[in-house]
Amino acid sequence: MKQYELKFYPDPVLRKVASPVIKVNDAIRHLIKKMSKIMYSHKGIGLAAPQLGALERVMIADIGEGLISMINPEILTGFGEDYLEEGCLSLPETVVNVKRQQSVFVRYLDKNENERESELDGLTARVIQHEIDHLNGVLIIDYAPVLDRLKLNILNELKI
Ligand SMILES: [Zn+2]
Repeated sequence: MKQYELKFYPDPVLRKVASPVIKVNDAIRHLIKKMSKIMYSHKGIGLAAPQLGALERVMIADIGEGLISMINPEILTGFGEDYLEEGCLSLPETVVNVKRQQSVFVRYLDKNENERESELDGLTARVIQHEIDHLNGVLIIDYAPVLDRLKLNILNELKI
């Protein structure tokens, strides 16, 4: 079975758009297992497959209420707006105030390939929006003010 490890910014894989999962098979279930192991060991509350270098539309979340795994998640509608400072396992020591929708209606496949729809709000809705961003190559720094973004890029080029 494939080995996975956490990827850090500026690893180019974090900027790629992940592909939809065609078949929810044992390889996908293995990926979800690895993802949850890595998420829990880093005390994260969400993780997307591209963060392990796997360009598949798979994400997990656990805000302390149990593990949710979603395959090919799609936000159908969303309501409200909310700001909160977010971190990211792939960007240690970076915190960005991110505007998200307060509640979202999501359609996805579970790990048994059943199609599900859920309405989520609060922190769960936020984490899911953060992880779906990862599936599209979007990172929290993209929400930072231009000057902060410039500073981050400079720091990365200088490797300090
Ligand atoms: Zn993240």
